[in-house]
Amino acid sequence: MPRLSRKSSPPAACPQCSGKKYISFNWARFQHGHDAESKQVQRALKIERQLKHGWEYACENCGSRWYLGRDGIMMSYIHPSKAGLVEHWNAGTYEVSDEIWDELGKIGATAQGSIAGGRTSAEVPCRVTTVRGETFDMAYVSFQSRPPIDLWQDGRRIRFCDEVASVEPSPYTLSADVRLATSRAQEIRMGYAPTAVQAPDGHLFQLNWANDFFASGPYKGEDLRLTDLAGDWDQADMAGVPSEYILYFVADWRADLDSLYLDAAVGRASEQISAALEEDGDTSAEDESGELEQAGGTENRE
Ligand SMILES: [Zn+2]
Repeated sequence: MPRLSRKSSPPAACPQCSGKKYISFNWARFQHGHDAESKQVQRALKIERQLKHGWEYACENCGSRWYLGRDGIMMSYIHPSKAGLVEHWNAGTYEVSDEIWDELGKIGATAQGSIAGGRTSAEVPCRVTTVRGETFDMAYVSFQSRPPIDLWQDGRRIRFCDEVASVEPSPYTLSADVRLATSRAQEIRMGYAPTAVQAPDGHLFQLNWANDFFASGPYKGEDLRLTDLAGDWDQADMAGVPSEYILYFVADWRADLDSLYLDAAVGRASEQISAALEEDGDTSAEDESGELEQAGGTENRE
């Protein structure tokens, strides 16, 4: 595609120092490209070191750091505020014991919002007791193939699973069929994909997009059952758990993650991806389009 020359731009540039401020892009698309932009990116980004999974790159112009996953596709900008997360992730081994794995398998995961060509992560909602004796009723063990730096995880309270002593089902976790239903909820208006649930006393709630936890007054996730409002959504209170109540314990990716999923059938992934992304309030899909993503929301909200 013909491009207008931009004489004020630096001659070689990564997306950071060229002023585009993208936060992730499809490296595979640029790596072997012969167009001017591909050559600029190839010249600017050099491998700095191999990490436990994937590689760290640095820009020769601006010094910015980038993470390339082991699939060699998704290159993500490492915001300076997230360099410590990368170090922590890379320096440790975050495996769970067989006992914890078995417990997580009983609870199960629904499809996640960050999938580039397959399921590369799985997150199981549970109650976590840490090695220091803390208990968190709304926590995830989050198996991931990448360090937890991508935009879809911004704002999360992140720790690592070497702190996890034990897990068990949480009373705040919604039942498997409610969780599956919310993960498959259809958007009926912009940003609105409701699932109706009912408490034992008849109280009606609606959950918007994918939900794993529920707490509202005396009502807990385990009490709620799916119900049908026949489209009359106004009779149900909108409720959900604020994200700051939830903790994520990052664990290393493993080859048998698929066994954690509640729905064994693959093929519904795309709609589940869009649901989860809408819930996160961002548009940073690690999708397969390879579109560059505009920076924004990379601030550390901790
Ligand atoms: Zn640069």
